[in-house]
Amino acid sequence: MALYNDQGIVLRSYSFGEADKVVILLSPNRGKLRTVAKGVRKTKSRFGGRLETLTHVDLVLYEGKNLDMITQVSIIEAFPSVREDLDRVVAAGTMIEVADVVAQEEEPARRLFLLLQRGLRALDDSGTHPDLVTAYLLKAAEIVGVAPALSHCAGCGAKEALSRFSFAEGGVLCDRCRTPGSYALRPGVIDYLAILAGADLSALPDPDAAMSGEAMGISRRFMEYHLERKLDSMELIDV
Ligand SMILES: [Zn+2]
Repeated sequence: MALYNDQGIVLRSYSFGEADKVVILLSPNRGKLRTVAKGVRKTKSRFGGRLETLTHVDLVLYEGKNLDMITQVSIIEAFPSVREDLDRVVAAGTMIEVADVVAQEEEPARRLFLLLQRGLRALDDSGTHPDLVTAYLLKAAEIVGVAPALSHCAGCGAKEALSRFSFAEGGVLCDRCRTPGSYALRPGVIDYLAILAGADLSALPDPDAAMSGEAMGISRRFMEYHLERKLDSMELIDV
């Protein structure tokens, strides 16, 4: 009998059979963890309420053939304020979605886990900073190895005349390397993105309303380009 301990943040869950739920978590130790919680949709379930999306839980699992079975759950952190506000729910939805797409099964994901935990904590503590999701996306890109070049040309390495941004080339381009499909950027946006990429999620600099929208658009589309899928944060998570 193989029982083991692990922890994770619940990414999503769905109904399974008559009364069970499949619960997908991000574990720092095992990456994406697919589990089953038996009987949790019955009213007398002991721990159904502890397995909602976003919740960071400590688990005891029983190793199964396909899905490991949750036998005990305790809440480590529930991020209650995130659930009370629509903007926070939307922001958390994007964070969760990116973590879900990027994480692999049976591949430790310590940095990704910590990023998600810090992102949810920042949302829970201080609400939606306009640049929080942007900073999260840039850090997630770095973790998966596709960090955009922001301080030098992605083509030749030059540090000057950086005027364009290309999703395909992986960051900013100088005047000489600019490609037909690259975007002209508002002056200052690149520096703004570079600061966000290096900032602590819980201590982001004061937002600049003139930059936030474009910075978000670029980082979001950059991530979509590299993940080869749309991010539907408007699809609200069920909390
Ligand atoms: Zn260049």
